[in-house]
Amino acid sequence: MSNIMLSVQVGGDNRVGFFGGKAFRAGLSFLGEFTDRKLEKEYAYYEVKYSIKFVRPTVLLLGSLYFLFIIADFSLIGNGRVFNAILINRVLFLMISILFSFWLKRNLQPGSYYVSVTAYEITGAAFLLSALYRYETPVFLIQSLHILLLLLIIYILPNRWLYTVMVMSATSFSFYVLSFTADMVVSSREFFASVVHTVLALLLFALSSYRLNRYKRIQYTNSKELAKLSSRDALTGIYNRYRFEEELHRAIVSANRYGTELSLIMFDIDNFKAINDSYGHLVGDKVLVDFTRIVDAEIRECDFFSRWGGEEFVLILPGTNKEDAERLANRLRDRICSTYFNPIGRITCSFGIDSLSAGDDSKSLFQRVDRLMYLAKEMGKDQVISMLK
Ligand code: GH3
Ligand code: MG
Ligand code: MG
Repeated sequence: MSNIMLSVQVGGDNRVGFFGGKAFRAGLSFLGEFTDRKLEKEYAYYEVKYSIKFVRPTVLLLGSLYFLFIIADFSLIGNGRVFNAILINRVLFLMISILFSFWLKRNLQPGSYYVSVTAYEITGAAFLLSALYRYETPVFLIQSLHILLLLLIIYILPNRWLYTVMVMSATSFSFYVLSFTADMVVSSREFFASVVHTVLALLLFALSSYRLNRYKRIQYTNSKELAKLSSRDALTGIYNRYRFEEELHRAIVSANRYGTELSLIMFDIDNFKAINDSYGHLVGDKVLVDFTRIVDAEIRECDFFSRWGGEEFVLILPGTNKEDAERLANRLRDRICSTYFNPIGRITCSFGIDSLSAGDDSKSLFQRVDRLMYLAKEMGKDQVISMLK
């Protein structure tokens, strides 16, 4: 019993891994958006990037469908002047849709995307409403169906929830105000039935859109967390071996393509097993975490630091020749030697270093560095060994 208590307490203090042992939770505001503005902005970029692929063809389809209603108009409208006015209305909206679709292709800024989709929706509503009241004998219930369809279209175009609700409300409100002011014969029964159905549809769309906005953000944070878990080491939070292999391959391709230097350092903590044996695995874990913090503070932002396994680590150093890599390894060695790791005291490390040569692939470079690191062990540990030229 006391053992379990102890392990829980020490574990809570020492496992200062990447997520601090807690699941990542992001707050959502009453608008269904992240309260963290930076995260919301990052999400908006992601959403807009994918939404545009759907919105561009949808906008073209909407413009075309709106235009094709001219076929029905042709058989319904007797007055040539009214027909021409509606024809111009439909052609103009088709042109606006085509232009908007092209404009979306070049514009990826979330702020302008949301505003422009909102503007497009308002324009569409204005064109539809202005067409509706040009008909010689407008039928109120048929027009109400158009409004329901319009609400559905506003709902399916991805936008900020607040804007979606505002455009849906403004559209419905304008429709009923216009039907009052226009010279239209509407029975009060039909009018109320239409209002009730429109308001209910609006509420359901608003609710569904709210849920969708929240759900998409929750999924986004979940997938972000999964991506981190799959590329980071759970204990130390630095990159894991899987990401290292990917990154080494990428760095070699890039160095070969741009003719830049690339060095690799592999290092292993000396006599680490003895630490576990004397102080226990939880203290060993804490040493590993403290150790990675020290190395992390010494390297450049463009250097790639990962845990290869156990107490073995690798550094990928882009744009760095062997001499500079040696200098860094010696600096790390000094820094580690001179650090007091609570409660075990001082530790040392053995380093193997080499840089990319012609014809190298990730396997050949890694194997050389691995062998040099073991040579450092064989030569008495606590030293830096690099390949002679
Ligand atoms: P050498 O100087 O030759 O490297 O000896 P060593 O004792 O450091 O190396 P060895 O390979 O014999 O042992 C490595 C030890 O590291 C054994 C293993 O239990 C321990 N280890 C590996 N991963 C972890 C970990 O995540 N946490 C802890 N606490 N220990 C670990
Ligand atoms: Mg070791
Ligand atoms: Mg080892």
